[in-house]
Amino acid sequence: MPEDMFVEEVRGVWHALQPGDVLANFFPAGRSWPTHAFYNRLAARCGASALPVGDLQDGQFDRWLTFCEEYGVNAIAAPPSVVRQLLRRYGGSGRPPWWLRKLLIGGAFHDPTPEREIAHRLPGVQVWQLYGSAEAWMVGHRGPGCEEDVFHLLPHQYAEIDGDRILVTTTEVHRAPPLIRYLIGDRGAPADCCCGRSGRALRVLGPIEPSVVFQGHPIWARELVDLALENRDVTAAQVVVIPSGGDDEHLELRVCLADGVPDDQYTREWIRYQVLSGHLALDPAIAEHSESFQVVAVDRLHAGAHEEPPLLVTERVE
Ligand SMILES: [Zn+2]
Repeated sequence: MPEDMFVEEVRGVWHALQPGDVLANFFPAGRSWPTHAFYNRLAARCGASALPVGDLQDGQFDRWLTFCEEYGVNAIAAPPSVVRQLLRRYGGSGRPPWWLRKLLIGGAFHDPTPEREIAHRLPGVQVWQLYGSAEAWMVGHRGPGCEEDVFHLLPHQYAEIDGDRILVTTTEVHRAPPLIRYLIGDRGAPADCCCGRSGRALRVLGPIEPSVVFQGHPIWARELVDLALENRDVTAAQVVVIPSGGDDEHLELRVCLADGVPDDQYTREWIRYQVLSGHLALDPAIAEHSESFQVVAVDRLHAGAHEEPPLLVTERVE
């Protein structure tokens, strides 16, 4: 990633921030979330101010919203988990915050939050969205008046559709190693946008394989399952997303153990360690001390509609 994080290329076409705007940046800070640094730099380059909130502690969200109001914030940049909190907070009887004019979502990933839900719960708030991946970085952008899930390509990104898979090539700018026909992991289709902006646009249809955003990266369920199966103690595995109601999803790697393998802490920690250290995008140092990734031994995996248990299941909280 070049030092400037392609901020100029994004700023030139995506006019989410203006001089005088005050952006509260709710993307978690730290190495695994460069999107936080990106939004801070974008604000600075646009002549706006950034309030780098970073990681939210449990129960702190309302205090931060009050703080935002007092300090003249008019825009929020937030990852999907915080967007969900915001929508929950202002669902039903809660009146949307009068000071919030813009919501900046997405980044080096795809935020699938339905736009109609944002429009319903936060009426009058402009939605500005970026799309990309950890490796390709920002690829496309959309703004108020654009069709849902349709992204205009950034000028330095070229995208092809192969079957329904999106391939991205980064052009014009220096980047090493070069990114050529990179399989971004989402399905897509060429699209026209009703906003009338010229240039190429694509519709993002969702991930090729079941995935979940964890520590700021899309994680393919298959990767975690395959890593678990490399351990001979494991005969079957499945990733379960447990909405925590808090800032971050909890991931459970559910495993069936081979005959005679005891279900004890040693076994579970050993599987967890092997999966984390074998995965390229996960940061073992963070994940290891985090409660949000657990290995759980089960007798039977969640069954799916098909014969094979699905790789990824989202558990409902009653
Ligand atoms: Zn558009």
